[in-house]
Amino acid sequence: MPRRNTINLVTGGAGFLGSHLIDKLMGSGEEVICLDNFFTGRKHNIKQWITHPNFELIRHDVTEPINLEVDRIWHLACPASPIHYQHNPIKTSKTSFLGTCNMLGLAKRVKAQFLLASTSEVYGDPEIHPQHESYRGSVNNIGVRACYDEGKRIAETLCFDYKRMHNVDIRIMRIFNTYGPRMLFDDGRVVSNLIVQALNGQELTVFGDGKQTRSFCYVDDLINGMLKLMNSKVIGPVNIGNDNEFTIIDLANLIIQKIDPSLKIVFKELPMDDPLQRKPVIDIAKKELGWEPKINLNNGLDKTINYFKKIILSK
Ligand code: NAD
Ligand code: UDP
Repeated sequence: MPRRNTINLVTGGAGFLGSHLIDKLMGSGEEVICLDNFFTGRKHNIKQWITHPNFELIRHDVTEPINLEVDRIWHLACPASPIHYQHNPIKTSKTSFLGTCNMLGLAKRVKAQFLLASTSEVYGDPEIHPQHESYRGSVNNIGVRACYDEGKRIAETLCFDYKRMHNVDIRIMRIFNTYGPRMLFDDGRVVSNLIVQALNGQELTVFGDGKQTRSFCYVDDLINGMLKLMNSKVIGPVNIGNDNEFTIIDLANLIIQKIDPSLKIVFKELPMDDPLQRKPVIDIAKKELGWEPKINLNNGLDKTINYFKKIILSK
């Protein structure tokens, strides 16, 4: 048999994180099949690879089964921003449940390694701070975030059951808030929202009193963590995120300082079930993967602001 490259299937590959992962895999000379239904993904994110012989693009919805021969499955397909995953919550639940079932079934059939992009949202509005992987979470299973949070929780359950029943080679990554170039400028996530508002000279919208916290990871760090996890023997779940915690008001003020100190903040109603605090414990990632974040919020914001400046200028 002739030797061939590793074939990677990246579901959700045209999205924010998926397209950065594809850049890394393609840069290493591997083969990539990008599968996406383009709900929140954009062809523009992967246009640099469209004619490359190692790259294939498939328009497909993960809620439908598919037969492919692949070595590794990076399962990212799922809208990640609250306004997108709440747009059609039943579809979001289906994407997490049926989509993960279909991709695990494929992994079982072709004996592929399987990585799930799970989330810090499995911890819900946490009563334990910071969040260690052993914390079982506090999710409101009937609230507006449940389609996403419970969807990811059942996706993790499916991974472990496919491992226990069929010995599928799984890895579970719990991703904390990640930001950087290629976030959609209108997807409502806080970093992109505030930067775009500031660049347009508008007031920055802070929900609630702005004292809720998040820990923001720059996309390059996140993707390095994802690669390290897939290349390890660690099953997880593993928290991957930056453990520097900021209040939303501090984030808004930092963006104002960087873009235009005369800009003002406007306070809006806090959305239902918005978690009060979030910060990962990353000891497992540090010890078992040799991973830790390198890019602080100050530098990461500069790169992200430059990206959005170019996008706004090109419009
Ligand atoms: P994104 O919305 O930019 O990307 C998701 C991609 O999945 C898009 O390209 C979208 O079109 C595609 N998709 C959605 N539903 C699909 C379906 N049914 N079939 C096929 N494709 C579908 O989001 P992202 O920030 O790149 O997130 C990627 C993954 O990482 C998601 O699973 C998300 O839950 C997880 N995650 C992201 C973050 C973050 O801060 N970015 C945090 C935690 C978890
Ligand atoms: N948020 C805000 N202003 C915005 C968008 C979001 O204050 O314009 C808040 C939101 O209420 C939440 C935090 O920022 O407390 C992070 O929101 P995001 O949607 O980015 O991520 P998630 O809530 O899923 O962690």
